[in-house]
Amino acid sequence: MPSIVVVGANWGDEGKGRIVDFLAADASASIRFQGGNNAGHTVVNDMGTFKLHQLPSGIFNPDCIAVLGPGMVISPEALSQEIAEVKEAGMEVKLSISDRATLCLPLHALEDTLEEQRLGDAAYGSTRQGIAPAYGDRVMKKGILVGWLNQPEVLEQRIQFMLDWKMPQLKALYPECNFTQTAAEMTQWLLNVTEVWRPFICNVTLPLKALQKENANLLFEAQLGAGRDLVYGEYPWTTSSNVTAAYAGIGSGLPTLHPERVIAVAKSFSSSVGTGTLVTAMEEQDNFRESANEYGATTGRPRDMGYFDAVATRNGVELQGATEIALTKIDCLSGLSELKICVAYAGEHSENPIWPQTEELKPVYEEMTSWEEDITGCRTFDSLPQAAQDYVTRIEELMGVPVGMVSVGPERDQMIIRN
Ligand code: GDP
Ligand code: MG
Repeated sequence: MPSIVVVGANWGDEGKGRIVDFLAADASASIRFQGGNNAGHTVVNDMGTFKLHQLPSGIFNPDCIAVLGPGMVISPEALSQEIAEVKEAGMEVKLSISDRATLCLPLHALEDTLEEQRLGDAAYGSTRQGIAPAYGDRVMKKGILVGWLNQPEVLEQRIQFMLDWKMPQLKALYPECNFTQTAAEMTQWLLNVTEVWRPFICNVTLPLKALQKENANLLFEAQLGAGRDLVYGEYPWTTSSNVTAAYAGIGSGLPTLHPERVIAVAKSFSSSVGTGTLVTAMEEQDNFRESANEYGATTGRPRDMGYFDAVATRNGVELQGATEIALTKIDCLSGLSELKICVAYAGEHSENPIWPQTEELKPVYEEMTSWEEDITGCRTFDSLPQAAQDYVTRIEELMGVPVGMVSVGPERDQMIIRN
């Protein structure tokens, strides 16, 4: 299968990194197509445990080129640090970084922070990395392109152009804003912190087109999940880019992409951190949160825990145009005393539940049989307890597409492949 897009069916942290790392063994290129340093994709393999932020999760296959696509916003210093970490683990890092991607500067992070502070209780719950302001600048045609790092004079001119527009606004809105760097200083800083990866900047379309021509396996990876898509998610508690599979081609530098497989990664239960309401929230959450290790990856915030929400997940699967599902973290359900699936919503707005007004929605549950057994050692579907098999097949029925992969642990080999 030449091209596979791996995306989230929920709100993020479904285990996409883990699925991409597994699939990368057979891939020629691993491509991140949107987002930036706000991603946290966990990969556990024989080289260690990694929390990847900007590097694609296929980076651990030495035969795979790792591509940072034009749809990304790139935090320059953080990328250098991440490259150093992966190198320290013994990997040779071969990257293709799009000249058309946008830089996410410390000034954007400052802007993000000042705005969250101004909003107070109404804040978005941003990771304050500057992702929204960087994408905002891109749309306003004030963005700073990665390719200009190889044209320092142009770089400085474009930064000046951006500062002339941005600084009067920042100073007016946030009197405490004390940013004083000049365009020349910012240019010099950028040239210093990007030294290790500047040689990788290129038109990523060229190597990808060549691989596409050879019918090579290409692996595309999104950040977050359908519920956070800028257009189709729970606006305004979304991210600032498109996380849906339809964007994979554009965000990768291969706009002619027609993927053969779209794998929507779905978690076997619901969890959410930050803003927004979880319709299927459990009454007692603490023990399950602890055993499922559900804490925000970057912030450590405890996540709200809930039962599998088939309404929201099916919407996610449909938005993604998924051909199949990878169901993760089913091992975490072992020993849960009560197991149920939300099959419908009742209450106001239930006729259009994808409109982001979840407060009034009430879950309609179907009871499922729970199981006690530890399933982290299972490698075939038939070896799962009958109740766990029934849980997967019920989800499959409700989703309308096959569950092709069932993940029973965070490690690379803790995977059941179904035919
Ligand atoms: P991503 O952002 O979608 O890549 O997901 P994250 O890496 O942020 O969050 C998924 C978390 O679940 C990570 O800590 C993974 O190591 C872990 N994980 C992934 N799949 C499984 C699984 O099947 N079982 C268990 N127990 N943990 C898993
Ligand atoms: Mg994550």
